[in-house]
Amino acid sequence: MDQNDPKTLMLSHKEILRQEFYSEFTKVEKSLKIASNIVMHLKDASTEAINLQFFLRAVEYFRTSPDHKHIIDSKTSFHVKMLIDVAEINSFELATRYLRNPSTFMSSWVQEYIFNALQVNINDQGTVLQNIYYICVRSKFNEMLVATRNAFTKIEAKYCKVNELWQKINSHLELTMIAPVMTIPTIGNEQIQVEKVCEEISSELNEARYYLTMRSNADLKKDLRREIEKVVEYFEKDLVGCKELCPFCGGPCDNTAGCTSHLTRCHRPQGISGQNWHWWNWKRKRGNELVVDLCTTSVADKKQQFKKSDVDNKWHKYHEYRTVYESWMIPPIVDTNTQLYWKWFMAKYNKEFADFHGCLEAEIPDSWKQITWEEAKQDLINLYKPRT
Ligand SMILES: [Zn+2]
Ligand SMILES: [Zn+2]
Repeated sequence: MDQNDPKTLMLSHKEILRQEFYSEFTKVEKSLKIASNIVMHLKDASTEAINLQFFLRAVEYFRTSPDHKHIIDSKTSFHVKMLIDVAEINSFELATRYLRNPSTFMSSWVQEYIFNALQVNINDQGTVLQNIYYICVRSKFNEMLVATRNAFTKIEAKYCKVNELWQKINSHLELTMIAPVMTIPTIGNEQIQVEKVCEEISSELNEARYYLTMRSNADLKKDLRREIEKVVEYFEKDLVGCKELCPFCGGPCDNTAGCTSHLTRCHRPQGISGQNWHWWNWKRKRGNELVVDLCTTSVADKKQQFKKSDVDNKWHKYHEYRTVYESWMIPPIVDTNTQLYWKWFMAKYNKEFADFHGCLEAEIPDSWKQITWEEAKQDLINLYKPRT
């Protein structure tokens, strides 16, 4: 037999070649498994970081977006927008839900506002929700890819233990990304070929990033519900603010939560909250029709009186209201052409208000019936415009 014949040579080395092939194959397979394991740990650590970043970026979006910043900026701007929306929806039932409990209604309106705004489509690039999430995914995955590349360049040896590579990658990640366990338990002491494993990690991270940036709006809405709720909570406290209501018209205090001296620029005809002449019989003998006076006008009147069951049920002069409602500041203003929003509202829904409060319809002044919706809306906007 010719010892130099290639076929013979191959056959004689068959076993060695087979062993080398399997050894190489096993090494590659092992590298793949280890890389997958590291990527799995990185993905776990990144989920929380992405969610946290989503919250921060979503808050930032609402605070800076030209569509929302002027609305979400303060309780009063949000309240004005909400009152305009309520009127334009044209449902008395919706308005009564607000009037029954303004702060609860405002809380749910904040929630609805945030959820709806996140569902808006941005051209062909998905919803606001998807876009904010995709930015967070790209940012965190880029961070992991850079950390992997840096770890590879920092480890000069061709081989190292899994834990060494893992810790090097971690040391190049931001604090929020560092996994709580700094070692990978089962495979931590295995020797790996650094370059091969790093290549595989990068390839798997790229693939995972691609799939995450393809996630549907419906999936994200469901999975990020807790984070969206946190965004709602973040804005809710300021936008609902002080929950005190004007004792006469029911208008919410304009101040932030925790205020001790309550005031509002928007006092309403008192019939809106159900005040009726039944209590003020001394002046009128016509029965319990709803009152059209604004509280600001009533407190400017030296004679007008009120008697209310939430205090002592005794007669008090309006202009001395602070003897029983000392935390409220109601400026005495003789009604001119002000508070058009609520006058328009009461003129439009006079009968509904009367039924709602179990009273007689108010005697609506003729001038109120001439107020158009555009005038009412603009008056409300002007009322809360920053004064320069
Ligand atoms: Zn009032
Ligand atoms: Zn207040």
